Amino acid sequence: MAADIRHTGAPVLILFGPPGSGKGTQAKLLRQRLKGPHISTGDMLRQHINAGDEIGRRAVQLIKAGKLVPDELVNELVRERVSQADCCAGMILDGYPRTLNQAAVLLKLLEEHGFRPAVIHLVVDYERIVARLSGRRQCPVCGTLYSLTTNPPKAPGICDLDGAHLVTREDDRESVIRERLREYDSQTVPILNFFREAGVPMLEVGAGEASPEQVLQKIWDGLTSAGLIADAAPEVGAAPSGLK
Ligand code: ADP
Repeated sequence: MAADIRHTGAPVLILFGPPGSGKGTQAKLLRQRLKGPHISTGDMLRQHINAGDEIGRRAVQLIKAGKLVPDELVNELVRERVSQADCCAGMILDGYPRTLNQAAVLLKLLEEHGFRPAVIHLVVDYERIVARLSGRRQCPVCGTLYSLTTNPPKAPGICDLDGAHLVTREDDRESVIRERLREYDSQTVPILNFFREAGVPMLEVGAGEASPEQVLQKIWDGLTSAGLIADAAPEVGAAPSGLK
């Protein structure tokens, strides 16, 4: 049932980061510290596809083709989700908004409810991402992932666990990675500009060399100094902290 969540003043973190920037990891780490849910439109759409319902049927072919699902559809999904009681304490948005239309609809929705949005932009050098992703190898039998630089198999090209020949995933090929990064740029830059012009606080967080915990700490410090989170940055591994 929809709750009355007007004027909560709770923070809504809008996460942006290119493929390979550790966005999913940060969303999960932030989720452990904040009260609100992690909302990923990609996950929501996949749930509808698994359920085989009307929304899933509309989305499935587009997703398979790597195309965006229509704005009206995702906007409605998010509108409904945001009106649920667990969002009162705020939320983390991941994979939404992806177009200027979605960004404008979201901002209006958050304003209507009195949320305080903040954009977190994970910045990573693209050459580093290409190196990181194109150095990944996967076992086609058991699915184990290896990294040629940080976690190589014991024998080159062979899975430690079952001896199968490792492969490069189709979407980890360098040309595909570069295409995904170009797409990310063309989608994201206008949206970041839109939020900047609308006066939404924006944290640019260098996520290239730091460990996931260090990146989390930088995000937390930024949110604290922007006044979005009440407490001083907790120690890594501390209990979840409250929100303002
Ligand atoms: P990825 O980060 O690999 O694109 P996601 O799980 O975020 O994965 O999204 C998977 C697919 O779901 C996208 O390729 C797109 O088809 C669809 N999708 C997810 N979020 C949106 C959105 N905000 N607007 C339109 N389509 C979306």
